[in-house]
Amino acid sequence: MLRFRQLRGRTRTDAARGLAKVRELLPPEYRPLTGPAIESQAATLAVDAAGLRYSVGDLRRLRLYSNAQMLAGEAYVKDGELYGVIIKRPSETLVSPERAAQSAVWAGYVGYSLEGSQRTDEFEQAVATAFNANLEELVRTSERTRLFLNEQRTHADAPTGPEVSAAGVLKDKSARTLMQAIKASGGLLVSDLPKQLPAGDRARIDEIQEKLLSSSLLEQETVIVCSKARTPVLRYASDEDAEALAALNVRCSCGQPVQGEKRERSVTVTKLGRSLVDKSRWMTVLLVEELRSLGVPLEHIFIEQLDGGDEMDCLAVIAGDTVLFELKDKEFSLGHAYSFAAKVGILRPDLSAVITTDKVGNDAREHFERAKKASMEGSRQRTLPVGSAPVFVEGVERLQDELRAIGSTLTLDDANMFFEDVFLQAALSPSRFIAQMSATDAASGSVEAVLPKPRRGGLSQPVKPAGGEA
Ligand SMILES: [Zn+2]
Repeated sequence: MLRFRQLRGRTRTDAARGLAKVRELLPPEYRPLTGPAIESQAATLAVDAAGLRYSVGDLRRLRLYSNAQMLAGEAYVKDGELYGVIIKRPSETLVSPERAAQSAVWAGYVGYSLEGSQRTDEFEQAVATAFNANLEELVRTSERTRLFLNEQRTHADAPTGPEVSAAGVLKDKSARTLMQAIKASGGLLVSDLPKQLPAGDRARIDEIQEKLLSSSLLEQETVIVCSKARTPVLRYASDEDAEALAALNVRCSCGQPVQGEKRERSVTVTKLGRSLVDKSRWMTVLLVEELRSLGVPLEHIFIEQLDGGDEMDCLAVIAGDTVLFELKDKEFSLGHAYSFAAKVGILRPDLSAVITTDKVGNDAREHFERAKKASMEGSRQRTLPVGSAPVFVEGVERLQDELRAIGSTLTLDDANMFFEDVFLQAALSPSRFIAQMSATDAASGSVEAVLPKPRRGGLSQPVKPAGGEA
């Protein structure tokens, strides 16, 4: 999954001086992006770049609001990953005169991994040194997330190793069908197992049974069957129990010595099996495990039952946003859509997702489409799906990929906002250049005579000397 990290600190260092120092401190593998682009444009225009920067007023006019606080910035590229540094002015109206003398300096990274933080250490160190700033990681959280985390919920428990591997076995629909049948009857003879499965899957019975036994979802027993009544009379699990039984003078209810009655192998659901099948908790276990592998801490995962339904609900904070997961071990129908919409209405998550082992019914889909159209007005500036339309995950085997996609969407949104600010530093304002042309035109009646001379020693762009002798 793509990762984004941003840090912020306060600085009194002049923006241009600090940026130059960052460039000096970084090894040459970090290639600056916006500075050279500006220099190249200024050389072509034969002007000094400083006078042609977008002003705060320009940015407001262009509706680039987030950029309006910005003083300067630079992006660096290394190994196909992006690093950025931004300096923003404080908003004078909100802070004390003491604080107003300081600017905020931000360091950002978007890349493929944050495992081993030394990946970003070098860059962050350079920014901190150049701006003499204490940088602290900034984890953006939505307003909903801040409220939600204040609500004193109990977070999820970490699933145990056996729970995780058993939940993996239960991804197989036939394995679940078999578990349900055995659980409902309190135990089944092994010889009766194949008929619990649809005809097409009966050939897999040995394989499925073996997986359920080895993951401790089932345990084997021996059943003593009365040969007269053809009903089970006794059952035991271990060889020790068999020996203990043989030592006793026990008779079957028909009068025969038990030792002479027929023995058959049977299976029952273990405590672990019951705990994972009840309320389809195996789905919850898989989801919690996948969320943790995406880097979501347990403290940000909450399991609760919100409203009827057989399955538990899951709420998680991913990349600062609150996500509601609805789990369904069956087709997600129109009825489910209504109760789900009610939950969304109460919890107001930033994003919601429906995870079904089957599929999402067409009527449920249409319901969300209608609701989405109705809520289109007043959508937020962010690119997240808005309104009540959830992300649909059909089939648990798609869970990992879909969660990664959700995580990336939320992360990308943050990274986009950060780097849009930085990349905009690579543009010069055409209106400022034209204003300069107009001013020189008015002053002399000739643009050619007064345009600034091309700078020496700059980039060797084919600049047409505009009346200069360079
Ligand atoms: Zn008998």
